[in-house]
Amino acid sequence: MPLRLDRGARLVVATHNPGKARELAQILENRFQLLSAGELGLGEPEETEASFVGNALLKARTAADASGLIALADDSGLSTSALDGAPGIFSARWAGPDKDFGLAMRHLEERVTQSGRDDPSAWFTCALAVAWPNGPAVVVEGRIDGTLTFPPRGERGFGYDPVFTPAGGILTFGEMDPTEKDAISHRARAFAKLKAALF
Ligand code: IMP
Repeated sequence: MPLRLDRGARLVVATHNPGKARELAQILENRFQLLSAGELGLGEPEETEASFVGNALLKARTAADASGLIALADDSGLSTSALDGAPGIFSARWAGPDKDFGLAMRHLEERVTQSGRDDPSAWFTCALAVAWPNGPAVVVEGRIDGTLTFPPRGERGFGYDPVFTPAGGILTFGEMDPTEKDAISHRARAFAKLKAALF
């Protein structure tokens, strides 16, 4: 039988990141009853996989099996050409235990400068996984390309948004209206694929 996610289904959103939870809720357009991992007292598994897809599956699987509910998880991050893909799956970890993205963005600028590579290309990737408790799972990936922008600009969004300008744009993700970001983001692109696969 093909896997389907019906409107109104109860879904655990397996993220402890409020910025991502807010964007996912907006992208899901009230289609499901969303419960947060925090609300259910679920822990955060260590991200031990080597890819966005692997970590998204790991998070969805852990939350689904622990809660007995269908779980949706996201693993995402910013990659840069100058640093051969870094920070990539380590994007959150570069912000340290205090989740200080000012620090992470300064570190990124330093590392790019030190690399001596004059290539500002960067891209955000988002893997979205849905797992059924003790059952199957589906995973998709979306990406948006753009350029690194230093110094950081804009107070909107979260994480690395102030240092990323999508290709063909002028404003950074940190300066854009959230609905404009949601229309083109890596998360929205992954979600469109998930919709095609499951809804
Ligand atoms: P993780 O998926 O929990 O490992 O965290 C991914 C990290 O990548 C986040 O904490 C953000 O720093 C960064 N990230 C992912 N998506 C975005 C985005 O849309 N804007 C800015 N930063 C992002």
